[in-house]
Amino acid sequence: MSKTIVIAGGGWAGCAAAVSARRQGMDVILLERTDMLLGTGLVGGIMRNNGRFTVTEELIAMGGGQLFQIIDANCRHHNVEFPGHAHASLYDIGKMPGAIGRYMTELGIQVQFQSRVVKANMEANRIRSVETGDGTVIPGDVFIDATGTAGPMNNCARYGNGCAMCILRCPSFGGRVSLTALAGVAEMQGRQKNGTLGAMSGSCKLYKESLAPPIRNAVEESGVAVIPIPKALWEDHLEIKACQQYALKEYRESLILLDTGHAKLMAPFFPLEKLRRIPGFEDARYEDPYAGGKGNSMRFFAMAPRDDTLQVLGVKNLFCAGEKAGLLVGHTEAIVTGTLAGLNSARQASGKKLRVLSRETAAGEAIAYTREAMKQKEGLCRKYTVSGSVLFERIQALGLYEVNQFKIHERVRNLGLSEIFS
Ligand SMILES: Cc1cc2nc3c(=O)[nH]c(=O)nc-3n(C[C@H](O)[C@H](O)[C@H](O)COP(=O)(O)OP(=O)(O)OC[C@H]3O[C@@H](n4cnc5c(N)ncnc54)[C@H](O)[C@@H]3O)c2cc1C
Repeated sequence: MSKTIVIAGGGWAGCAAAVSARRQGMDVILLERTDMLLGTGLVGGIMRNNGRFTVTEELIAMGGGQLFQIIDANCRHHNVEFPGHAHASLYDIGKMPGAIGRYMTELGIQVQFQSRVVKANMEANRIRSVETGDGTVIPGDVFIDATGTAGPMNNCARYGNGCAMCILRCPSFGGRVSLTALAGVAEMQGRQKNGTLGAMSGSCKLYKESLAPPIRNAVEESGVAVIPIPKALWEDHLEIKACQQYALKEYRESLILLDTGHAKLMAPFFPLEKLRRIPGFEDARYEDPYAGGKGNSMRFFAMAPRDDTLQVLGVKNLFCAGEKAGLLVGHTEAIVTGTLAGLNSARQASGKKLRVLSRETAAGEAIAYTREAMKQKEGLCRKYTVSGSVLFERIQALGLYEVNQFKIHERVRNLGLSEIFS
């Protein structure tokens, strides 16, 4: 009899988990709180920068790269350089949710929108079923928590600069609810160096139409525009950023714009009145968050304790992925953990031994190191991404960073990991 995997959350982690479990022959139900897939990925777009290139190719070599291939086919720019970041690609945020949604439907994944999980029905230390806000009960054999760590609004108000009206649209769909917490597990919280909880998302989107033509043309042609900010207008928000890979002085001294459809401004917020004093930005307007002049979404309030198979500790049939699996920033990181959680949910449902990814791969090292680092108090003040900061430094020091596709695929083959996700 076929088994059912139920996934809460349709961001990149939940989508990857759904694809991975479905490709193992499972019946898959994906419950998403809002009316769109991709979560914070709806306003993201940066892929393959720095160590993310290695991890992307590793996953493709392991047979789990379907979403990366769809992303590659829907990029506006490839092989872009911007301060601190090499060989990036920028996906089109307009096209991406549709492309992923169609692929998931073709695979036979049941996606249920406006289905916010609000209750877990337990039987000892197993989840028997989950309930959505309208009282629908969804039974399953194995569950995956991919609800992310952003918001809800009260966290943005308490620890940030208030609700900035971001893509998560909590007032319309209700805020994030953690399945791990509903199952009775105590979660971990990220901290800033000053001890306050959470971290602020690190980029906004501007309407390209609101920028002066030379700036708009520059960003559209090359994918990147770097515009120096007069010193009197510098904003000091490097410390509060969730994405520490962009906490470099260049991001304080310049406006760095990337073309993901809109103009992605690599700053957590920038006061509109100041922005409009910079030549070319006289008419600038925010597209996301609407109040990008004041703040941004707050994240990393709820991470699940887990092992390296991504099983949540304390609940027999619950796995986690994406930001839920640690202070992991990024779509690539969410897709990799989602793919592993999806595989292991299927393996558990079929009575097979669970897999960990070898630490001789950048992906495996990222999963294991993030878990270890979060055991330390100072580790909870950092963020982990293979595109920069501590984790990328570690991956380079261990000799795991590689940009030669042939060598990456060969390494995966030599480790006996080719096609493990197929
Ligand atoms: C503004 C911004 C820009 C970013 N830009 C980039 C970038 O360019 N490149 C990059 O690599 N990373 C970027 N990131 C980081 C990246 O988006 C995330 O780290 C990653 O995509 C997280 O994926 P996730 O699936 O774990 O969580 P999320 O994206 O938060 O998805 C969680 C999903 O779960 C849903 N959900 C929550 N609770 C429930 C519930 N109870 N029931 C059902 N559904 C629920 C939510 O609605 C959401 O769709 C950006 C983040 C932000 C906020």
